[in-house]
Amino acid sequence: MLFKLIVVGAVLYGLYRLAGGTLLPKKPKNQPEETNDDGDTLVECKTCGTYVVKKEALFYKGEWYCSRECLP
Ligand SMILES: [Zn+2]
Repeated sequence: MLFKLIVVGAVLYGLYRLAGGTLLPKKPKNQPEETNDDGDTLVECKTCGTYVVKKEALFYKGEWYCSRECLP
């Protein structure tokens, strides 16, 4: 009786490992290759001409702006 429970547990654990083994490696492969592009790229503010890092710049109607003060 107890042995049967251990076998069932082992099978379930095997299936769990199998599912985890196939699901986890998918994440790094799904990442797009252009992820390192929008990190430290500099963009020019349309209003004042200041160059700011893209991740801190504001994109509005096809143009880049350094801050809310420069937004039209
Ligand atoms: Zn500006």
